[in-house]
Amino acid sequence: MSARSFLVPDDIYDYILKVTLRDTPVQRELRERTASMPLARMQTGPDQLQFLQLLVKAIGAGRCIEVGVFTGASALAVALALPPEGKILACDVSEEYTSVAREFWERAGVARKIDLRLAPAAETLNGLIAAGERDYDFAYIDADKSNYDAYYELVLQLLRTGGLIAIDNVLWGGDVANPAETDADTVALRRLNEKIGRDERVDETLLTIGDGLTIVRKR
Ligand code: CA
Repeated sequence: MSARSFLVPDDIYDYILKVTLRDTPVQRELRERTASMPLARMQTGPDQLQFLQLLVKAIGAGRCIEVGVFTGASALAVALALPPEGKILACDVSEEYTSVAREFWERAGVARKIDLRLAPAAETLNGLIAAGERDYDFAYIDADKSNYDAYYELVLQLLRTGGLIAIDNVLWGGDVANPAETDADTVALRRLNEKIGRDERVDETLLTIGDGLTIVRKR
């Protein structure tokens, strides 16, 4: 799914970027580098990254989790929004894409804030839970859709009360609203949307930014 929202006309999206975007030169360069790569459509839009930064600042987040790093733009954005002592635990399995991420984190001067764990995310998150880690403030889930529910449950355990989880691609180009679409990713996202919709453990909103972004707050 493209970073460009399927819900917002191109001229209006361009207007939003032109008038509101505050990204840094390193962020812009990473976006251009990623756009030239084969899986460029996986990149989170710059307007959405800026929204994540606002959330992080609004709740005064210090400890964050990222599930799905890709080329590092979201971890970079969050790291830039964190205070100097802030930390991100970032989970991914791709050495290839995260090598690009590391390069840009270094260049932006935020590499020391990001602890990259190259392993299946569920393994890393289960390890944190087993080690008694809790009280994370913020998490961004943007990885393999079939495991979203597992990531949601694990991250929820690691979050403090009042902490936020942002979950990307929850509209999946609109496919979740089309019962004729029954591929595994669509079904996984549809089920998770329905589950969160009635999940008494959290407050929720589903935003029509990007490809659909759910924000949950742990009660
Ligand atoms: Ca995404």
